[in-house]
Amino acid sequence: MNLHATNLRRVHQRGSHDIVALDDVSLDIRPGEFLTVTGPSGSGKSTLLHLLGLIDSPTAGTLRIDGVDTATLSDDERSGFRRRVFGFVFQSFLLLPGLSAWENVATAELLDGRPLRTQRARALALLDEVGLADRWDHPPDELSGGEQQRVAIARSLMPDPQVVFADEPTGALDQSNSASILSLLRSLTVDRGRSLVVVTHEPAIATSAEARVLNLRDGRIAEGPVPA
Ligand code: ADP
Ligand code: MG
Repeated sequence: MNLHATNLRRVHQRGSHDIVALDDVSLDIRPGEFLTVTGPSGSGKSTLLHLLGLIDSPTAGTLRIDGVDTATLSDDERSGFRRRVFGFVFQSFLLLPGLSAWENVATAELLDGRPLRTQRARALALLDEVGLADRWDHPPDELSGGEQQRVAIARSLMPDPQVVFADEPTGALDQSNSASILSLLRSLTVDRGRSLVVVTHEPAIATSAEARVLNLRDGRIAEGPVPA
């Protein structure tokens, strides 16, 4: 899947004045590519991730997915991308308390009316891939932070996504957990032909990941590789 963003701009209204969260950002993401987006807090990283993931829409500029201008998509088509083509991982894991690990992994598919047996089998296989085969029936509060993020990664992979977006996925983890979560994310996405976009405010993570690095400052691309 190819994402092609041209001159993306996102302006928020706060009271009577405008906040330019993102301005004039152009980039390409190709199949199997690993991109990290870095920059200080407030530089527009999450805004960019939300625009690329069709969670939010730009004020100006264009996002094409495999050549299709996303401005022409209906709400249903946009949500179809979010649920079936993209995977999302967030800093705070966003697991449902009171549900077991496998139920957290499979909930969206089960709510979508998919058969329990196949979805449960797929969830268990993914929990195995993230190293949690023996934790499949534990609720989030019986798991460590690193384990909870592994559950969230397994959940993001349920729809067999073509692009995984991760917003500060290691922000709540210590250093050694951060490194293993990043390498796990890479091995389950990039190494299998999926694209991976990781937002992090820690430059060390961005550079150590051996990924293409996009630096944002005040909503604009500051330095780094020029997009093709
Ligand atoms: P980052 O993820 O790099 O910390 P964000 O993309 O969250 O930055 O935010 C970029 C800028 O846009 C910040 O100044 C932030 O306060 C502002 N912003 C983000 N979302 C909103 C919103 N919904 N309403 C108003 N301002 C927002
Ligand atoms: Mg953010």
